[in-house]
Amino acid sequence: MSYMKALKCRECGKEYPKEALHVCELCFGPLEVVYEYDKIKGVLTRDIIEKRPPNMWRYKELLPIDGEPSVGAQVGYTPLIKSDNLAKALGVKELYIKNDAVNYPTLSFKDRVVSVALSRARELGFKIAACASTGNLANSVAANAAACGMESFVFIPYDLEKTKIMGTLVYGATVIGIKGTYDEVNRLCSEIAGKYGWAFVNINIRPYYAEGSKTFGYEIAEQLGWKLPGNIVVPMAGGSLITKIHKAFKELHTLGFVSENKTKVYGAQATGCSPIINAVKEGSELIRPVRPNTIAKSLAIGNPADGYYSAKVMRESGGWGESVTDEEIIAAMKLLAETEGIFAETAGGVTLGSAMKLIEAGRISRDESLVICITGNGLKTQEALEGKLNQPTIINARLQEFDDLVKANGKEYAVKA
Ligand SMILES: *Cc1c(COP(=O)(O)O)cnc(C)c1O
Ligand SMILES: [Zn+2]
Repeated sequence: MSYMKALKCRECGKEYPKEALHVCELCFGPLEVVYEYDKIKGVLTRDIIEKRPPNMWRYKELLPIDGEPSVGAQVGYTPLIKSDNLAKALGVKELYIKNDAVNYPTLSFKDRVVSVALSRARELGFKIAACASTGNLANSVAANAAACGMESFVFIPYDLEKTKIMGTLVYGATVIGIKGTYDEVNRLCSEIAGKYGWAFVNINIRPYYAEGSKTFGYEIAEQLGWKLPGNIVVPMAGGSLITKIHKAFKELHTLGFVSENKTKVYGAQATGCSPIINAVKEGSELIRPVRPNTIAKSLAIGNPADGYYSAKVMRESGGWGESVTDEEIIAAMKLLAETEGIFAETAGGVTLGSAMKLIEAGRISRDESLVICITGNGLKTQEALEGKLNQPTIINARLQEFDDLVKANGKEYAVKA
């Protein structure tokens, strides 16, 4: 039983059938999935959700597939961690990390969007999966396509992190490195999608793909005991995740699963690629594209597809936005690791670093609850830390050398007699 009604233009409201469509033919607005909430209200309760297996499909009535999911059955339900050490460092009362650095199977939140996109693509009869990616989407499309027996074509900027390229090739995907930025990769992929008719998860399947991000928001609410946080800070690339977390909170309120929705939504970008933050700070509705230059490559989209809508979400929720330099990104990555034992990728440094600035500036109240969204794993962006950490101390395998080391260290350690 599906509660997905149709696709609908976000601008003019024209409805379209539930096919592989993504732009309105009248006004070129983006299409979005609409649901029959009245019917969902009649069949879905918090109790039913809580009794289901711990993965993102426990909210399947709110996801855009007609049958049962066929890709990514184990994705989602990642930890929400009450982060008291980091809270102390930041001087806030109640802080949580939603940690998709440990999402299954490819260690980023992109597994959520891909499992929805490929489940839907298979329902629509596609045999070949594809994407334009800044890295994490490449990993996830390649892995999930392999697991469900689809062939995959992955298009990336040629100069991505080594681990992200290797973590795509290993699944047998055809990887095409483009000499250009993500925005150039994306433009080429639009042409290829039109010509070859493959399921480009973030182009012609985008309305379905984007809905997968809502589960990140549903889980936060459920893990907080069916309450929404006072504030949430979200990293932005194309700006889709932030709008879908906002949509998820609204839906939970519509369904009566949470009693109020007052969450202020904040966006985070790297200063080297901050077209959305620029618009928010200037009070402009216009997103001016930029040429990215940042170590946060997963967020390096200079012409964000959902930039306009994400700026709107920040404005209308009473939130704001902030950006951080490469140095601030690295400092925040280290702080998160040292206080909470979480190794996030560069995007995590962007989110935490931006949250810190927003707290310092008084934009985020120290007395309200705060969720920081960690969306990818640090093992995949190790070169960003090259030369930025202390080096291991190398000694011979002799106790005396270790004793000397301890002595040189200056700190007293108790030893057995
Ligand atoms: C893709 C990505 C995002 C943001 O994605 P949107 O395009 O804004 O939905 C955030 N963090 C990581 C690690 C990503 O890979
Ligand atoms: Zn339209």
